[in-house]
Amino acid sequence: MLDRRSFGLSLLASLASAAAPQIAAAQPATGASKLVLIGTKGGPRVGGPRNNPSNLLLVDGVPFVVDCGYGAARGVVNAGVKLPDIRYIFVTHHHSDHNLEYGNIVDAAWSSGLNAPIRSFGPKGTVEMTDLYWKLNRFDVETRIADEGKPDPRKLLQPTDIEEGVILDIPGVKVSALRVPHPPIADNFAYKFETKVGVIVFSGDTAYSEKLANFAKGADILVHESLYEPGVDRMVARVPFAATLKEHLLASHTKTEDIGRVAAIAKPKLLVLSHLVPGDDPTITDDMWLEGVRKNYDGKAVVAKEQMAIDLPLP
Ligand SMILES: [Zn+2]
Ligand SMILES: [Zn+2]
Repeated sequence: MLDRRSFGLSLLASLASAAAPQIAAAQPATGASKLVLIGTKGGPRVGGPRNNPSNLLLVDGVPFVVDCGYGAARGVVNAGVKLPDIRYIFVTHHHSDHNLEYGNIVDAAWSSGLNAPIRSFGPKGTVEMTDLYWKLNRFDVETRIADEGKPDPRKLLQPTDIEEGVILDIPGVKVSALRVPHPPIADNFAYKFETKVGVIVFSGDTAYSEKLANFAKGADILVHESLYEPGVDRMVARVPFAATLKEHLLASHTKTEDIGRVAAIAKPKLLVLSHLVPGDDPTITDDMWLEGVRKNYDGKAVVAKEQMAIDLPLP
C-alpha cells in the first residue's frame, strides 16, 4: 500500500531532478489554480489503493469536476474543496466508472449547504439521468425541503446534453468537446479546457486517436487514459465474467506505446497517465507504465496517483 505522503515526497524528489513542473500535495482551495487527480483507476470495480475515475480542475479556486466515478465526492473533499463550491461538472461518457456519482456528488453538495447552481455537461442522456436521479431520490429530497428548509436541489443542477464543439465559454475558461473512439459507445468525448492558467486536455476513454492528438496540440497538460497490455491477461484471470473483457479493452482503450504516439503529436508540457487499466495490480510499477510511452515520446510524463496535485500555471 502506498503512503501518500512518502509517495508525494519521492515524486517531488524525482521530479525536481528533471526540473519538472511543481507537483505538491493537495491544499485547500484558496483561489488556487491546480489540477488534482481524484480517481486514477479505469473501470468500475471498487478496491485497492486507486479510486474510480474523477479529476478536479481548480481555476482561481473555482472547481470543475471531470467525471464522477464511485468515490468522487469523497476525493474532492479530501482535496480540500468544499462540495457546495463546485460550479461545473463534466461527464465524458456514460460508462458507470465515469457517472456513478454524478447525481450523488450534487446530492452530497446539497447536504453540505449547496445554494447556487451547478451546470453539468455530458453526452446525450445527461439530462434524462439528472431527471431520473431526482425521481429516484424524490422522497428524501422532498422530505428535507419541507422538514429542513433546504433549497430545491432539482433547480440547482442544470444539465446539458452536449455535442462536439465549444460547450462552455466563461471569462477565463473555455471548454471544448471532441468525439473520441470508445466502442461500442458513440457518444463519448474528450474535453479541452483553455483557461487563463493553461490548457488542460482530458482524453476521456478512448482508443488510439490521432484526432485527439491534434485536438491536444499546444496543451500544457494532457491527461490520457492508459492500458498496460501485458497486465490485461492477469486482470482478466482475476475477474469473473470476463470472457469478452480483454477484447473490449484492446478495442476501446489506448496502449501505453500508443499514448507515446499521441503525445509525440500533441507535445504537451506534461503528460499524465491516468485511468489506469489494470489499476489494481501492484506489480505494475510507474516505470512499467512509462516504458511503452518512452518508445515513442521523450517529453515529461508522470503516472497519476490519488490526490496528486499539479499547480497551474506550469512553470
Ligand atoms: Zn472508464
Ligand atoms: Zn468507458
